Amino acid sequence: MILLDRVTVIYPNKTVALSGASLHIQPKEFVTIVGASGAGKSTLIRLLIKEEVPTSGKIIVGSIDYDTIDKANIPHLRRKIGVVFQDFKLLPNLTVYENVSFALEVSGVKNAEIKRAVPKILQLVGLSEKAHHYPSEISGGERQRTAIARALVRNPKILIADEPTGNLDPKNSWDIIELLLKINRFGTTVVLTTHNKEIVDALKKRVITINRGRVVKDEKVGKYTL
Ligand code: ADP
Repeated sequence: MILLDRVTVIYPNKTVALSGASLHIQPKEFVTIVGASGAGKSTLIRLLIKEEVPTSGKIIVGSIDYDTIDKANIPHLRRKIGVVFQDFKLLPNLTVYENVSFALEVSGVKNAEIKRAVPKILQLVGLSEKAHHYPSEISGGERQRTAIARALVRNPKILIADEPTGNLDPKNSWDIIELLLKINRFGTTVVLTTHNKEIVDALKKRVITINRGRVVKDEKVGKYTL
């Protein structure tokens, strides 16, 4: 569960990025967040991964109240939430396999478990054959699949996909959306941000529209109307 209750973010330069934004996302939902550039989407995502703190308002994710979480628990929180970005953020000098396994190594997962988990997740995202390729040797769609595998391998309850198709052609974009839907069917909550009207309208899923830091629309089967 993700709960934002009247959350306001005012940056030090006095920009109001979010203004009393409230939303409630249930476990296992697939939600798309849309809004013009500058509407506040990135700020919202940074709040969820605790890279930003609200000026006022309340945030609860799962059973974690962001007001009372202590520093030691932030890594635990970040494990619950996987994030993928438009620009993939892969390590160029590691192979597909190593990019994914590294995410487990840094969380202290044992080697035997890594050897079990990584091939499984690469199979899920359709990358078994490219496991030993470097990011420069695979397509944009495959890079995004690698990033998704890396986010998923820690078994997050929530996957945030921030403009995951922004750098991809239509065919690869749809493949990534299909993959997100599959991940969602397996029980992971998916929060997607996108500017792609065609995708939003075809998804027929919940759409939350943000405008100037406010939630202006929240529809069960939403459309992209900016
Ligand atoms: P979006 O992701 O929807 O494009 P953002 O959350 O990035 O929107 O930005 C919301 C508003 O906050 C914009 O006016 C933007 O210029 C401003 N903003 C974003 N980050 C900062 C920052 N670190 N400092 C000051 N203003 C910021």
